[in-house]
Amino acid sequence: MNAAPGSSPAPSANSTPPSSSSSPTATASTSSSAAPAKTAPPKDTRTKAQRSRAFVVDGIPVISKKHPINSHYRRSSVTSPYGLTRATQRALKRMIAAARSKGVRIVVSSAYRSYAEQKALLARKIREYGSEKKARRYVAAPGRSEHQTGLAVDLWNGVTWGLAVRNTRTGKWLWRHAWRYGFILRYTNGKEKVTGYAFEPWHYRYIGPRAKDFGPNTNLTLEEYLGLAKR
Ligand SMILES: [Zn+2]
Repeated sequence: MNAAPGSSPAPSANSTPPSSSSSPTATASTSSSAAPAKTAPPKDTRTKAQRSRAFVVDGIPVISKKHPINSHYRRSSVTSPYGLTRATQRALKRMIAAARSKGVRIVVSSAYRSYAEQKALLARKIREYGSEKKARRYVAAPGRSEHQTGLAVDLWNGVTWGLAVRNTRTGKWLWRHAWRYGFILRYTNGKEKVTGYAFEPWHYRYIGPRAKDFGPNTNLTLEEYLGLAKR
């Protein structure tokens, strides 16, 4: 699937309008609705100092260029060997085992990275690419990376890296099945304007059971799902 070549500067106005007379108002807080928020987009009201905590929408932490965390962010729990949170590690282990049972090999390329590591990584990539602009399309600035939360992993087959990951058995299997284990492809194809990052067929983000709402082979983004994409 190719990214749409159109580089129209007009922002897409594809969000649902907030004023709908038939829009159901939230009645109970007990059952989580599968539908994304239909009201005004959630606002990130954290002060700079409060960025030691993530911006959370509908119980899902959102870490991005628009919603950064600072160097004081602490993961809710920490596991070895990857530094992922407990729930993420458990889900990853199940997913890797499920893939293996189908003859598909999943290798962890990168998992937790600290603020300092992210800073060093960006500096290195800028040197490698010879272009800061290009490096920033793929590599987050410190505080803007989900890797700092222990909720994200870069996965591949151990052989083929880069955009070609999407054409490997591993990449295809993940795109089809990761949602079953609570993971979503975070930076989908053609959604750079929404997510802030170029297509990364290797970067999976753990969001838990809500990943069911994404399903297989989708380019839906977390921003769109949570009603944050409207601009
Ligand atoms: Zn990543």
